[in-house]
Amino acid sequence: MEMLEAKEQIINTGKKLGQKNLSPATSGNISIRFGENILITASGTCLYELCKDDIVLMDMQSNLMHGTKKPSSEKHLHAKIYQMRPDINAIIHCHAPYVSTFAVCHKPLSRPIISENVFYFGEIPLADYAMPSSDKLVKNTAKFFDSHDAVLMANHGIVVSGKDLQDAFYKTETAEVYAQIYLQSLQLGNPVDLCKQDIAEIFELRKAAGFENLKH
Ligand SMILES: [Zn+2]
Repeated sequence: MEMLEAKEQIINTGKKLGQKNLSPATSGNISIRFGENILITASGTCLYELCKDDIVLMDMQSNLMHGTKKPSSEKHLHAKIYQMRPDINAIIHCHAPYVSTFAVCHKPLSRPIISENVFYFGEIPLADYAMPSSDKLVKNTAKFFDSHDAVLMANHGIVVSGKDLQDAFYKTETAEVYAQIYLQSLQLGNPVDLCKQDIAEIFELRKAAGFENLKH
């Protein structure tokens, strides 16, 4: 894929995040693996109003290689996840309101209440709080990617990975709707968990579809 085409994918994904109210103002960042390097949104950009110059190229050590703006302040988190997981080619970090509500209350999205979410995520764990952009945030958050594809960051938001950008976007949207339904089900009262047998069947289906790397 040419760099221009890759940048257009990021710009379009940013617009979709805006349309779905998943990334307010200048919060959040998007990246994709680009050969040996990473294309990532620049610091302080609004994801639904990106232009080509708002996307820069950096290496796996987060050094700027191409572009005039500074890479996102969460660049080290993106780089660490790509280093850990060769199967991951795209990452979205955002402060979507429902998932962030769970992050604020330090509640992981772990109850098996919707079969689709069990299939895609197993669970979405919660990483301990650390200052945004800090090395500690990378340490607290990245370790969950050894066995999960999405992680809540306490008092902050969510980071979601995918085999490509479309996959990462769909998972971000799915996680947000999961959180919304979860919250509403608590308001209505007594959400019912799937039983062990139901969950085992979903994981069999996952395995058959070639998904791996998930704990449940
Ligand atoms: Zn953030």
